[in-house]
Amino acid sequence: MEICYSEKLKKLPPYLFIEIDRKKKVAIEKGADIISFGVGDPDLPTPAHIVESMQKAVVNPEYHQYPFGAGMISYRNAIIKWVKQRFDVDLEVDEVCALIGTKEGIGHMHLGFINPGDVVLIPEPGYPVYNTGTIFTDGVLHFMPLLEKNNFLPDLDSIPNYIVEKAKLIFVNYPNNPTAAVASKEFYGKLIDFAKKNNIIVAADAAYSEIYYDESDKPSSFLEFPGAKDVGVEFHSLSKTYNMTGWRIGWVCGNKEIVEGIAKVKDNYDSGVFQAVQEAAITALTSSQKCVETSRKIYKERRDVLVEGLRKLGWDVNLPKASFYVWAKIPKGYTSSQVVSKLLENAAIVSTPGNGMGKSGEGYVRFALTVAVPRIKEAMKRISKITW
Ligand code: PLP
Repeated sequence: MEICYSEKLKKLPPYLFIEIDRKKKVAIEKGADIISFGVGDPDLPTPAHIVESMQKAVVNPEYHQYPFGAGMISYRNAIIKWVKQRFDVDLEVDEVCALIGTKEGIGHMHLGFINPGDVVLIPEPGYPVYNTGTIFTDGVLHFMPLLEKNNFLPDLDSIPNYIVEKAKLIFVNYPNNPTAAVASKEFYGKLIDFAKKNNIIVAADAAYSEIYYDESDKPSSFLEFPGAKDVGVEFHSLSKTYNMTGWRIGWVCGNKEIVEGIAKVKDNYDSGVFQAVQEAAITALTSSQKCVETSRKIYKERRDVLVEGLRKLGWDVNLPKASFYVWAKIPKGYTSSQVVSKLLENAAIVSTPGNGMGKSGEGYVRFALTVAVPRIKEAMKRISKITW
């Protein structure tokens, strides 16, 4: 029998980070001592109190059945409390929906709101899942370049009117993957006005909201700003904050109708988040946040060693204020892909080519700070031996 993939599936490029992971595994099999700054997956373990909470919950037979619905009320109440404490934003239970990781919610959201031909405004370079949902719903991708000259914020004024008229959904992501930029208060104000005026739903992806380096740079939530809840929702993840990428848990919150639309799509696609995982997430959100502070300190030390190391080697690198990525300008005379290949072949270092996340990423390489300090120092030694 001939197996034919759908046209939509054929349109999707291979998932960048699975490709990077595959290349890393091939190099390891060949015996390379790989240092991986590739996929943004914390190397630090999930804090013990969260694991213990899961251990207790997993034996509860009540949790062995379909969880169904938008999440346990106790999980949603824990989110409401956390959001209030962290951002001073008020939410009701029906303004929150549990997700099997934000990737799942982001990828499924389009199904609730996008009809064929509707435009989705997408930051580039950016997280590839914003594109995926658009392709699967026959939406039209319109990329908003994130350029250094604009502080890596999309220039909403430069989007042509005929695109704005057809736009139904806009994604924004701060702290940003991959540029590590944070959004200003002015930007969120402008975004809300733009969305209201043009009837465009805002999907703010705040997966990295807790990874910041100085209190003065503590990221805001989009929902903090007047009128935000009229136009949009925000995605939050426990993955990076509590080193829980493997657990698959997050949430979406904000505008009730939008949350309900996402929940309805999910009712028809999945049967909810394993309740023992929701219990562990409640523990994460309601216990002391000291573990998050510890992670921030670790990332800050790594950031400083990497940025200083690259600068000493002549690289032009901004000091990121948030997220655990370093968005480094590459040595002159090369493309991003060439630099990534050279780092892998000559130094056994895995990194992400900027252009892999969108064409405006050409000229950059992304380093994820998921590597311990001694290995970062080793990586710097290896890079110093490369002739460019
Ligand atoms: N959003 C951004 C910008 C990301 O970089 C990621 C993961 O790397 C996610 C969302 C997905 O996170 P998760 O599905 O683990 O919650």
